[in-house]
Amino acid sequence: MSDTIQTLLQENRHFSPSPEFVAQANASDVSIYESAAADPIGFWEGWAQRLDWFEPWHTVCDFQPPHAKWFLGGKLNAAFNCVDRHAAATPDRRAIVFEGEPGDTRTLTYAQLKDEVSQVANALKELGVTKGDRVSIYMPMIAELAIAMLACARIGAGHTVVFGGFSAESLQERTNDAKAKVIITADGGWRRGNVVPLLKIVEDALDLGCPQVEKVLVFERIGEKAGADLAVSRHSHLLESWTEVVGRQSNDCPCEVMDSEDLLFILYTSGSTGKPKGIVHTTGGYLTGTFATTKLVFDLKEDDLHFCTADCGWVTGHSYVVYGPLANGGTVLMYEGAPDTPDKDRFWKIIEKHKATILYTAPTAIRAFMKWGLEYPQRCDLSSLRLLGSVGEPINPEAWIWYQEHIGGGRCPVVDTWWQTETGAIMITALPGITPTKPGSATWPFPGIKISVVGEEGVGVTVAGPQSTHGVPGVGGYLVIEHPWPSMTRGIYNDPDRYEKTYWSKFPGKYFAGDGVKLDDEGYLWLLGRVDDIMLVAGHNISTMEVESALVSHPSVAEAAVIGKSHELKGQAISAFVILRGGFEPTDGLVDELKKHVAHKIGAIARPDDIFISAELPKTRSGKIMRRLLRDVAEGRALGDTTTLADPTVVSSLKTQYEDKES
Ligand code: ATP
Ligand code: MG
Repeated sequence: MSDTIQTLLQENRHFSPSPEFVAQANASDVSIYESAAADPIGFWEGWAQRLDWFEPWHTVCDFQPPHAKWFLGGKLNAAFNCVDRHAAATPDRRAIVFEGEPGDTRTLTYAQLKDEVSQVANALKELGVTKGDRVSIYMPMIAELAIAMLACARIGAGHTVVFGGFSAESLQERTNDAKAKVIITADGGWRRGNVVPLLKIVEDALDLGCPQVEKVLVFERIGEKAGADLAVSRHSHLLESWTEVVGRQSNDCPCEVMDSEDLLFILYTSGSTGKPKGIVHTTGGYLTGTFATTKLVFDLKEDDLHFCTADCGWVTGHSYVVYGPLANGGTVLMYEGAPDTPDKDRFWKIIEKHKATILYTAPTAIRAFMKWGLEYPQRCDLSSLRLLGSVGEPINPEAWIWYQEHIGGGRCPVVDTWWQTETGAIMITALPGITPTKPGSATWPFPGIKISVVGEEGVGVTVAGPQSTHGVPGVGGYLVIEHPWPSMTRGIYNDPDRYEKTYWSKFPGKYFAGDGVKLDDEGYLWLLGRVDDIMLVAGHNISTMEVESALVSHPSVAEAAVIGKSHELKGQAISAFVILRGGFEPTDGLVDELKKHVAHKIGAIARPDDIFISAELPKTRSGKIMRRLLRDVAEGRALGDTTTLADPTVVSSLKTQYEDKES
């Protein structure tokens, strides 16, 4: 650990936005929190008014827990707001800058985007898709993926994007649950120099059975190497070539008039906690939430180039690659491939080449960059960057400071954004022109959002920004959202009971997020991870996150995952799985030193009982550590559902090694 980082952590230092940043910021007046808290409905209505509506709403919000509706009676179209209105006003502005893994690039202006979206929309109509249908999208992270999403929105069909790394079974399960009539795919995508044979996987899914699928629209991009041929496929009667079908369409396709509460998309969550849930989002509220948060959290402006590294298979790609930035008329950078192909500086090369100004990525990536070393970012010019974001997991203070210092050059504000597929848009975050940040804290709720930190009985402290924070030092509890907000999910597709039970039954009338959070004495929120991941050790609540951050602050540790293992006396005992940085050997001496280090940083109560040094950790395909599987390993149980793991072999080999060591 560098000395600067050590000092910063010890000082619990705040980072304030620079006067230059504040002078230009979309939001720089702290009173925004107070006014939004006094009238959240009015606050959101103000943002909705900045979208284009075909017909106004008569009621802003109708909340009958657990159901909320927003902008009732209002009519609009998401594609109109993300494409047409900018194609009319600024036709030559860039909408999408795309770079493929092999290095191919493509830029689409808003005028071009409108033409392409309209053609694909007409193609979907020719294939029989009508308003109210669902379409499943299984594509690599190419411009056509965003185009396909917007084409569905244009004709009023709900899309369900399935991440291109998922298997045939996962695709089949999600496609059938959503009852999608058409699948849009590509022949293949690039990942670490290899072809991901998407069309072949679609064919396997069709073999497994997708009875309601009538057509598959295939974007041919890779050709022979993808190993699939439309003409000779066993499913050739279903397959349609994008080049042919889209190619013959007119670029004139009027936008369907959609009700504010009509379905925009269904997105299945990554499954860190169990069977994937089909999270439903509707049009008006979702667009309002993503539009407002993009403008204020990313401070998005006309001349920005917004690089969100998430795939559109996740909600982050939906909200902050497609809908939020494009609703703002912004320019987004889409990159198809892996961050280490051809070398570990790929992101930095992309930023340098295209002059990206905003970078939004995940802690898992940041920890990998730290492990790879400084030489990679240091050999690229990152001076175009002016803002950095993080999402997906709690970010360890160590990683936050590294990101701020080495990627942001010490000048870029860092926004750590907490939210979920279910919330649609960012809920807890700094506003970069206003909020002094602290490494590791997501800071305050977004204006108009009221968060409570509550105990088992549902009583606790409510936080709605800087004015209303009365932190009780160190108080931790459940994260609860008090008010409905426009972009909240409207439910779980096909499973209303699960929706009510999961989010609204623990604290009736309030949204229970399933995460733990701690409030500090300055009213800052510190996310502790999933409630299931919080340990109860000898009567003390200890978050896996805190112990992991303590471990990661040791120079030998690259990554750590901590779990509570059943213990006769203590209830739970702390077990840690640790990946070492290059150059460190897994000795007993080191294990002892790490235990001492944690005890020193947090207290003796948090000292891990055992530390297991491993080469890899089980992660979801979105890069999150799956602690429930590590609990299965440590407690010697059969492994639970592993279908959403990025690499299921990691956990089975880990289990074998662990059991060998134990015996
Ligand atoms: P599933 O719900 O199927 O188990 P998931 O929760 O991983 O999957 P997402 O909706 O993509 O699916 O992730 C939301 C969760 O990610 C949050 O509930 C939280 O646990 C975690 N998270 C996201 N951003 C942050 C953040 N900035 N800080 C801490 N945790 C975060
Ligand atoms: Mg979740």
